[in-house]
Amino acid sequence: MAGDPQAACPFCDWAAGTPFVHEDPLAVALIDRRPINRYHVLVVPRRHVVNFVDLPPELLTHLFRLTQVLSQGIRDVCRPDAIQHLTDDDLAGHGFNLVPHFKIHIIPRFQGDRVRIDWGRGPEPSLADRGQWAAELRAALAGEGGAAGPGAPLRSR
Ligand SMILES: [Zn+2]
Repeated sequence: MAGDPQAACPFCDWAAGTPFVHEDPLAVALIDRRPINRYHVLVVPRRHVVNFVDLPPELLTHLFRLTQVLSQGIRDVCRPDAIQHLTDDDLAGHGFNLVPHFKIHIIPRFQGDRVRIDWGRGPEPSLADRGQWAAELRAALAGEGGAAGPGAPLRSR
């Protein structure tokens, strides 16, 4: 991508008439341009942050609190059967998202809606395999200073 990616980012420069649900100094929330269902909301930081892991802790906290409040609003307005909260870091640029600016989707779901999410789950892996994957992640987290941030020890249960 040439030049300043932020200069061409539609989530850094909202079009006139964008249907905002909420605006504050750190974040905005709006109705998705191509909603999966009615009241499909995006929660978007004003700062150009591409990936989840790059969100500063205070911004992350703000975004998730805002998502919680908006989810209650969606529950009140349209009485969904379920709500899905989705984010996607398109790390390899293979089209897992359309705009490389972090966002949280809040998607109300209804029985019989047209949405199909097929996780394509295979057979259940062995306990040994799952234990190995957990050990690999624990080792990686130890290298990152623990899950709570730099310098914080990772607590085991
Ligand atoms: Zn942006």
